[in-house]
Amino acid sequence: MQEILDRLEERRDYQAGEWVARCPAHDDGKPSLWINLKTSGMVGLACRAGCAFEDIVAAIGLLPRHLFNVDPEGLAAVAEARPEPVSPFLTAGLRVWLDSLSAGEEDAAPATSYAQKRFALSAAEQDRLGLRWWPGPQPCPEWVPTSFVRYPRLVVPMADFAGVARGAQGRDLSGRCPGRWISLANPDGFEWQRYGVFPGPDPGAPWVVAEGLSDPLAVVADGYSAVGVRGAALLNNDSPTLDALAAGLAGRDVRVCGDNDRSGREFARTILTALHQRGLQARQLNIPAAFKDYAAWRSERCRTQ
Ligand SMILES: [Zn+2]
Repeated sequence: MQEILDRLEERRDYQAGEWVARCPAHDDGKPSLWINLKTSGMVGLACRAGCAFEDIVAAIGLLPRHLFNVDPEGLAAVAEARPEPVSPFLTAGLRVWLDSLSAGEEDAAPATSYAQKRFALSAAEQDRLGLRWWPGPQPCPEWVPTSFVRYPRLVVPMADFAGVARGAQGRDLSGRCPGRWISLANPDGFEWQRYGVFPGPDPGAPWVVAEGLSDPLAVVADGYSAVGVRGAALLNNDSPTLDALAAGLAGRDVRVCGDNDRSGREFARTILTALHQRGLQARQLNIPAAFKDYAAWRSERCRTQ
């Protein structure tokens, strides 16, 4: 059970066998997720904002079967089930799906104008980052979860340092989805990449590592390169991701920027420590205390210009 709880942010004991935490499936400002462990060994998850069970499970990097037969003390049930990075077959499937989605100012106008307005990304930059439009319900691969499918989205591919998309997230454009950003569901036994690499327009500019995907897109609009990491609370036990970040960022000028809250500070500390341990000279990028994250800080700067 601890293995599951460790994946959640701002977790608090509620009663014996019950906890509350921030819901990982939507931008949760306060703990909206209620977790309980039943005597049958089944874990219940309920989000007050209405996130679907499968989306919460996907957002913490597990599969529904990991939430059955959970040992109150033990770690084994989940630890042994650590999934593999997505296979070449799955990355090919992701590529085919992304290529089937529209892009550009005419065909994907709602997504393009959202990315322009929200992140100030030009059409050329959106094209370079491979941004796409999901128009709403239509046939799709089984690893696109139900709540992703239901609403129109800006689709952001999450590439590795070689530029291969190994994951994606979709930003709701309807304002009606409880989860603003929805990840792909992990296929059984595999896990989509937890980070996305977003090279900026200038290859010599500093790299900024930030939480989620909104901040990295705002970072790129500022002319830097960015790496976005989802599920900050998962990082502590995720040395493969930290190894990959260190390998990809070696030799670059790196700043780490967490949100201005407790989990954001923990995110920055975890990444900085991991990079320092692997011989990189990364520094922290502090945003002014009045702003909750990089994207909020950027929009204020642009508003007052
Ligand atoms: Zn939720």
